[in-house]
Amino acid sequence: MKTKKSTLKDYQAKRDFNRTPEPPGDKRIPHKRPLFVVQKHNANHLHYDFRIEENGVLKSWAIPKGPSTNPHEKRLAVMTEDHPLDYAYFEGIIPEGNYGAGEVLVWDIGTFKNLKDKSIEECIKEGKITILLEGKKLRGGYTLIKTQLHPNSWLFFKMHDNEEDPLHSITEEHPESVLTDRTIEEIT
Ligand code: MN
Repeated sequence: MKTKKSTLKDYQAKRDFNRTPEPPGDKRIPHKRPLFVVQKHNANHLHYDFRIEENGVLKSWAIPKGPSTNPHEKRLAVMTEDHPLDYAYFEGIIPEGNYGAGEVLVWDIGTFKNLKDKSIEECIKEGKITILLEGKKLRGGYTLIKTQLHPNSWLFFKMHDNEEDPLHSITEEHPESVLTDRTIEEIT
């Protein structure tokens, strides 16, 4: 495994680990199959955090409207700071006064395959990621494309395949945690 400089400095600088139950991110054991997670986060503005494992951290995007299984619904995804790998299992309450205060639940988790013949890091530099998600809710191909609107803005959308489902809203029909079956209200 290549060792790289920590990209978790921004994550750690924003948080006081005596005051938040979030993980400090000192463990970095990569998974055999890279992990993806979607966390529903009831902060000031409800959003969904989409994260994929790369180089021992979770590359992260905040998706205000959440993922869609309809290939024609392209969702804004704002790239945010890298998160530690063990953040993938974090569910609970970030207390008032802390960065990102509010409830967090693990809305989906699973592994993914990079469909490109280059690393996720290189795909990020080039502004296009295509991956196959193997989650409990999200399955099949998804694309992330960088837009010209803002340095951190991307679009996230379903690719056409037999997992596409334009007729249902997966976020409305399946709001619960895949780890504990709880909704945001039940975590509160
Ligand atoms: Mn968030």
